[in-house]
Amino acid sequence: MSPVEPVERTYAVRTYGCQMNAHDSERLAGLLEGAGYSRAEDDAAKTGEADVVVLNTCAVRENADNRLYGNLGHLASVKARRPGMQIAVGGCLAQKDRDVIVAKAPWVDVVFGTHNTHALPALLERSRVQAEAQVEVLEELEVFPSTLPQARESAASAWVSISVGCNNTCTFCIVPALRGKEKDRRPGDVLAEVEALVADGVVEVTLLGQNVNSYGTGVGGFGDALDDAARGRGNSAFADLLRAVGRVDGIERVRFTSPHPAMFTDDVITAMAETPTVMPQLHMPLQSGSDRVLRAMRRSYRSEKFLGILDRVRAQIPDAAISTDIIVGFPGETEDDFAETLRVVEASRFASAFTFQYSQRPGTPAATMPDQLPKAVVQERYERLIALQERIGESEAALQVGRTVEVLVGEAKGKKDGASQRLSGRARDNRLVHVGLPDGVDDADRPRPGDVITVEVTQSAPHHLVADVPAGQALRVRRTRGGDAYDRRQLASCGVPAQGSPGQGVGAGGGAGGRSVGLGMPTLRTPVA
Ligand code: SF4
Repeated sequence: MSPVEPVERTYAVRTYGCQMNAHDSERLAGLLEGAGYSRAEDDAAKTGEADVVVLNTCAVRENADNRLYGNLGHLASVKARRPGMQIAVGGCLAQKDRDVIVAKAPWVDVVFGTHNTHALPALLERSRVQAEAQVEVLEELEVFPSTLPQARESAASAWVSISVGCNNTCTFCIVPALRGKEKDRRPGDVLAEVEALVADGVVEVTLLGQNVNSYGTGVGGFGDALDDAARGRGNSAFADLLRAVGRVDGIERVRFTSPHPAMFTDDVITAMAETPTVMPQLHMPLQSGSDRVLRAMRRSYRSEKFLGILDRVRAQIPDAAISTDIIVGFPGETEDDFAETLRVVEASRFASAFTFQYSQRPGTPAATMPDQLPKAVVQERYERLIALQERIGESEAALQVGRTVEVLVGEAKGKKDGASQRLSGRARDNRLVHVGLPDGVDDADRPRPGDVITVEVTQSAPHHLVADVPAGQALRVRRTRGGDAYDRRQLASCGVPAQGSPGQGVGAGGGAGGRSVGLGMPTLRTPVA
């Protein structure tokens, strides 16, 4: 009698919110794969057609709870016709609402918080054996998330957490309440992870933290510099880490997000400028251009300090593309305050901006502040800000036409890539570039996700660049270990190597297309260029 084949259970993870959450989702996927689950079809996270569906939630976005319960309502009907299906809810909203979730949606099997992601497989198993919901939300981090296994979205690009939590108290932000005080990883652990990633074919890493430039000062902070020359320069731990990561043999692109203007020091700018593998790109959250509003937000820099940072970055890194986060309509914001924001945005020449309309988030100090603004006022200001940033983004992008850029081809498809036969990827400064290949390129010569194409920019738009390679011109492709890693993955999943698969998009490390997110104020929206 032949043994009965065990039935493989599938999983899908649906992610809301910031890059930190997206990276957590890679860990959840890695944990589930380590426990024997396999990834369900690509759209299963939306349709719910998997044996385990995990919703990794965000509490920062407006109406996050309405959206969660709406999605759980849909999953209830899927579960009714899929015996044995399990639903787990994790992330910031789970940390905040814990028991409320099971009370409102009793068909949920597991609720876990931001401090115990590692427990997910065990909680799913316990829920199945005991046939009852498991709610486990811890107040303190038990295991530093980066020590957990992960199933990366991209073969060539990876996120690396250097810290979790935040010691600031911005009055609009729920992160400190949900993610706790800042905890830093030791530099040796970060470097070991980067080296392991590079050995696995990764060519691009993005260092992640809520406030990367306070690295080294958090709970368990080590305060030690990475080299002797750095001692005595104050908190140079992040600058030193950047240099050390940039020196890892085989790494090609290093990015980081997000810094905080209050603590951003010149040694980081110098480290960026002096380390060839650190990319000329900076996400610097402004939030408001009004000093009065910044004070009310409890953000301790002022607009002139912010502009001074940008000047010094551009003095050392002239081609740096700078992006930002801005909140419109913070409680008490006057027309004069808003005019200050417009002034600073005009002066800053951002390549792109994540713009938000302020909305009350229960549990934050700003939610109970007086002078909450009417929606119509906020909307009107928001539209003016968008119009300004569109104009700036467009003129900044136009300066790129005629320049030669190196594009790291990504894995996600661009919206029009299929129709236009273009590939998509990120330039060194993180701009999205759609590359049109000349007709008749041999399959063997096509760049794979993870390879680098050198092209001249032929057109610009506020949110992307186009680089169409003229017919007859040789394609300048550099095949990288990242492309090799992509091929290995394809083969391992019984697919075929990438040659002949046009229309690949943007790698995870630089912020996936349409998924690029600022940690200062997480979002799922595409930034306004
Ligand atoms: S906005 Fe950023 S710096 Fe401020 S409290 Fe939130 S995570 Fe910390």
